[in-house]
Amino acid sequence: MELVKYPDPILMSPCENVAEFGDETSGIADAMLELMYEFKGLGLAGPQAGLSKKIVVINPSGKQEDEIVLLNPEIVNFFGECKFQEGCLSFPGIYAKITRPDKVDCVAQMLDGREVSFSCEGLLARIVQHELDHLNGVLLYDRMGPLGRKAHQRELRRLRKEYRGG
Ligand code: ZN
Repeated sequence: MELVKYPDPILMSPCENVAEFGDETSGIADAMLELMYEFKGLGLAGPQAGLSKKIVVINPSGKQEDEIVLLNPEIVNFFGECKFQEGCLSFPGIYAKITRPDKVDCVAQMLDGREVSFSCEGLLARIVQHELDHLNGVLLYDRMGPLGRKAHQRELRRLRKEYRGG
């Protein structure tokens, strides 16, 4: 499993639902967590690991007990608004201030297929929203807007060049 970076087209495509809740999906989640820790991320979504599937792994603290794996997650309600600096493992070296809701209610499935609903706010809500964007093919690039893209045009150009192997 390797980290997929912008502008790989898999990052821009909406993902398929996960329909398998056994060892295979657990194995994928473990490998994604490992990849996330390797690059010191707080979250990682399927497409960033080369899988166009609705799976995200999250760990806001880096402590093992705070690991979260969500399958087929959806945001069902959101509240408030806040601006926060965001990075993305698929955009190394780029950080942009993005405005998003401050609190979200979500539904998702666990690795055993069980459905859960939960609310989160602050940093966790921020990570959840960022990772769920990935499942819909929406990237930091899209969220940063024209001004952000202009401010980061040099880094974006570097990533495109690296992707082409130049
Ligand atoms: Zn990301």
